[in-house]
Amino acid sequence: MAIYHLFALSVIALASLVQPAPPAFPPSSPVPLSRPAQPMPPENFSRTGLYKTKNVVLVMCDGLRWQEVFSGADAKLITKEQGVTDVPGTTAAYMRDTPEARREVLLPFIWGTAAKQGVLYGNRTKGSLSSVVNQYRVSYPGYTETLCGFPGKNIKDNRKIENPDVTVFEYLHGQPGFAGKVAAFTTWDVFSFIFNTQRCGFPVFSGVGPIAFGTTNDAMRLWDVARAETPCPWSGSCYDSASFRPALEWIKLNTPRLVFLGLGETDEFAHEGKYRMYLDSAHKFDAYVKDLWTTLQAMEQYKDTTTLILTCDHGRGGGTGLGAQLNQWRDHNDKTVGAEETWIIVLGPDTPALGERIEGPAVTNSQIAATIATLLGTDYNKSQPRAGPPLAEAMKPLAR
Ligand SMILES: [Zn+2]
Repeated sequence: MAIYHLFALSVIALASLVQPAPPAFPPSSPVPLSRPAQPMPPENFSRTGLYKTKNVVLVMCDGLRWQEVFSGADAKLITKEQGVTDVPGTTAAYMRDTPEARREVLLPFIWGTAAKQGVLYGNRTKGSLSSVVNQYRVSYPGYTETLCGFPGKNIKDNRKIENPDVTVFEYLHGQPGFAGKVAAFTTWDVFSFIFNTQRCGFPVFSGVGPIAFGTTNDAMRLWDVARAETPCPWSGSCYDSASFRPALEWIKLNTPRLVFLGLGETDEFAHEGKYRMYLDSAHKFDAYVKDLWTTLQAMEQYKDTTTLILTCDHGRGGGTGLGAQLNQWRDHNDKTVGAEETWIIVLGPDTPALGERIEGPAVTNSQIAATIATLLGTDYNKSQPRAGPPLAEAMKPLAR
């Protein structure tokens, strides 16, 4: 994500000199959730009823490698050179004898629950391939591919350009039953452009400023204050907690049907070469997903009618492969070997418990948009022929 890393030091210096302005408190009474959606022809909703899914939450963990998702922490990267100051402590926390034990200690919800009830793509050591199809292998191209279902023609890097393409979130927001029921919470200000808030019609929190849409509560307002008062080491980003915690409150209060959550610490710490911090953020991502899933399953609106999709926007260098340089795990771009490699996890009432796929279909991030739309009862590929097909194996239609 961080195109801005070169400037991080000067940002830290600036942040310590400039006191942020006190936050403007959002009103406590409900404010309109959305502008009227762009008029879009209603899609064929004859598919409604084909799936149990009524709600979808897509969580993307920026630049988290499939290597850690499927094999846990890498012993070769637990060194002072890779930014681990406490090698014995990190070894005790994350190293185990087998890849299975290491991934369970790093990502206990994913391996304890999602792997038992859902499907996981991307373990290349077992022949399961998941990739982005865009050639740039950086964040904006990866997000727009995932959210629209195809690579953006002119989206080549992380520049703040209003997305000319319509995301599946915007598309669904224009469909019956979704107005005011779509929201995005992220840690990165480029997301305003990725979703195109000039046009999309639903609220997008991009990590800066107060959350001033929908019904809010005191807990959310305290997070607004904390974000404004906490210097952030990355330009245009906040810490994951400062977006996820208020997002969870907001979901409980506003019960959206389609939610995007974007977490960024894994990418930031990887670019900085801080492997322990990267692992800790991955572990926290897993804990957030557990919190989210537990919360949703305890609410009538969501229980057994919600599909959760987890993925990343790009891979990173292999790090320990034959001939690879150890430092390559930090990087990702069009020249980094392995930066196209991703992982996708689907969990929900329509997803068979296939667990970790061994071989199986090669999948791409460009299939996620149509998967979301199909689960929610629309034929996305009809209006977006460029979009990848849905992940057919990950959703089993009800017998009729
Ligand atoms: Zn990055």
